[in-house]
Amino acid sequence: MEKKPEWLKVNYNKEAVEEVSRLMAKLKLNTVCKEANCPNLGECYKKRTATFMILGNICTRHCRFCNVGSGVVEAVDPNEPQHLAEAVKELDLKHVVITSVTRDDLADGGASHFANTIKAVRKLNPGVTVEVLIPDLQGVSEHLDIVIAANPDVINHNVETVREFYPEVRPEADYDRSMQVLLYVKTKAPQIKTKTGIMVGLGETDEQVFKVMDDSLKAGCDIFTIGQYLQPSPQHIKVKAYVTPEKFEEYKKIGEAKGFHYIASSPLVRSSYRAEEALEGGKS
Ligand code: SF4
Repeated sequence: MEKKPEWLKVNYNKEAVEEVSRLMAKLKLNTVCKEANCPNLGECYKKRTATFMILGNICTRHCRFCNVGSGVVEAVDPNEPQHLAEAVKELDLKHVVITSVTRDDLADGGASHFANTIKAVRKLNPGVTVEVLIPDLQGVSEHLDIVIAANPDVINHNVETVREFYPEVRPEADYDRSMQVLLYVKTKAPQIKTKTGIMVGLGETDEQVFKVMDDSLKAGCDIFTIGQYLQPSPQHIKVKAYVTPEKFEEYKKIGEAKGFHYIASSPLVRSSYRAEEALEGGKS
């Protein structure tokens, strides 16, 4: 594999990272920023934003790009929604992103915990916009309804890669089910912005990328994100190519022309990167 290009090198703001990390530890919270080894960790923490990861930091699935651990899951912490709401207040956030590991072991996939967290954040932080990045909840409409009823501003569900790579990259997920989740949310609650995204650099063709865009638009998706896949460890799936900034720009232009309200496409984009800006851009 070629050497990591210059455009992927990032500098962490150590002080800001440590400050937010201390608060997370005090409130017993997980951020996906740290768990997923996000390259934007320094920038987001400096701006006092973070993506919180609820329902523990052990996942019941085994996606081959993901740095989150899998194994024996933890019991759900009933105090987590309140703790997260307190962190949002302490960090003085305007927009909060809440995601989770996939909890196929829970009867509702964790939907009610998401809903409780949205409500707790809103109660303690009026005016804060809330984005949830949800797992597919096995595509069960009753479970999606629980999240929808809490009325977050944005529901994000990432398809992560092109359809053709699912068996290798996301063995327990299903491309069509993910598209169905996005379509269901938009049909049931058109006022909620919907969002999805993919990583590139796994060997996908332009046509395959455009097909994901087209399928997402058909599912009513407002916001689309594209970023470079980075291999978190030698055990994870290998990077096949470092996609150039020019190619990302081309994806952005084509995505906008196809009709997304907002598209973030550049090497270091992750699904919650500049999420507040994406929500503003996605407001029609
Ligand atoms: S379901 Fe999500 S958290 Fe779990 S392994 Fe896959 S990407 Fe990682």
